[in-house]
Amino acid sequence: MPQNVVAYVTLTLLCCATRLAAQNPVPVTAVRAARMLDVTSGTYIPNPVILIAKGKITDAGSGLAIPPGAAIIDLPAATLLPGLIDAHTHLMARMAEGNQNEKYILQLAGKSEAYRALEGAASARDTLRAGFTTVRDVENEGSGYADVALRDAIIRGLVEGPRMQVATRAIAATGGYFPERLSPDVPSFPRGAQMVTGADEARRATREQIFYGADLIKVYADFLDIASPNTTRSLHATLTPEELRAIVDEAHKGGHRVAAHATTREGIRNAVEAGVDSIEHGTDVDRELLTLMSQHGTFLVPTSAAYSDGYETATPARQAELEPTMQALRAEIAMAKDAHVRLASGLDASTGVEQGKNASEPVSLVRLGLTPLEAIRASTTSAAELMGWQDQVGSLEKGRFADIIAVRGDPLTDITELRRVTFVMKGGTVVRQDSETKQ
Ligand SMILES: [Zn+2]
Repeated sequence: MPQNVVAYVTLTLLCCATRLAAQNPVPVTAVRAARMLDVTSGTYIPNPVILIAKGKITDAGSGLAIPPGAAIIDLPAATLLPGLIDAHTHLMARMAEGNQNEKYILQLAGKSEAYRALEGAASARDTLRAGFTTVRDVENEGSGYADVALRDAIIRGLVEGPRMQVATRAIAATGGYFPERLSPDVPSFPRGAQMVTGADEARRATREQIFYGADLIKVYADFLDIASPNTTRSLHATLTPEELRAIVDEAHKGGHRVAAHATTREGIRNAVEAGVDSIEHGTDVDRELLTLMSQHGTFLVPTSAAYSDGYETATPARQAELEPTMQALRAEIAMAKDAHVRLASGLDASTGVEQGKNASEPVSLVRLGLTPLEAIRASTTSAAELMGWQDQVGSLEKGRFADIIAVRGDPLTDITELRRVTFVMKGGTVVRQDSETKQ
């Protein structure tokens, strides 16, 4: 094309684009409230205005001018916070109460993957409406790749739910995960994780899971054999250091992170030395291992609510029973803080009742010694860092997704305010607004 024609066409296109932009300006939404928590500084910003366009925050601060024509959402008495993050959940898991192994077998035998995907969609909606706009789903308990389907359906707006990173099937040593003690007559009975033996199989499983859509890899570094008819329970490291190293190497090559279920000292050490990004549970972690984690930059996701929830309302007899566990947990959290190990909050929801109760974990972390601000950071900025999404979620700053929640009270003095979320916005779209927010 001759140069003058190119210039003419370019100019015409530019004019058209400018005229179109003037006719159809990008819609702007402004959210106003009584105050906004700046999670990074730990201070409240009074009379905040958050400006939103194309699902992202374009500006946020006190008393900002609102452009003419903007849609305004007024929450006059509310405290705004960033959308919360649950770094350890299982949206597909809706186990019944009772014997853990038996209920696991029943779950796999009685529910199709399709049905569990739909249960996952219900859990996703409950989780989002509770104010958790992002989750790290650390394995779907035998639902194949249904979590990939759920993640993608949420992205495409087919179902309502949080932003998800999914681990798909998880990797365990052969025999090192539920269900246990299956009859050898049903070798094809579904498993709760992909079982491997040897570094090559571990590497193959990692490649397969990433190929089918895993964002991160979950490994079981140790496991408690609870179904043995011999009364001696054997809790021990399962995947070998070589297997763990192969998984971490393969995952990290493509920028995928590795989360390790580890409760024993040996399991924690094997996983940290292999280079995993987080220790999940970490029950028996001690000062030496926490120092090792700090040196490696490994996160700890304590999933403490499973042990401490309901402590305040328990009978004195039950409280006395719980006390040794509570003391151990308090010591663990204090040591982790001392060692500068970064903590991320995750409820480990695995029953129907727990889905959407994700705020129980930050509440539990405060019960065990974190300040409310530290627990909120574990549920926002710190969890976002663990996921590698710190530039996208976890704070109310320019350029982040407009994931915003509101509560009525002061979460810096009463962390249980996180249980009473009254407003949820994800990516600029309101998914929940209770009538009381209008006062
Ligand atoms: Zn879990």
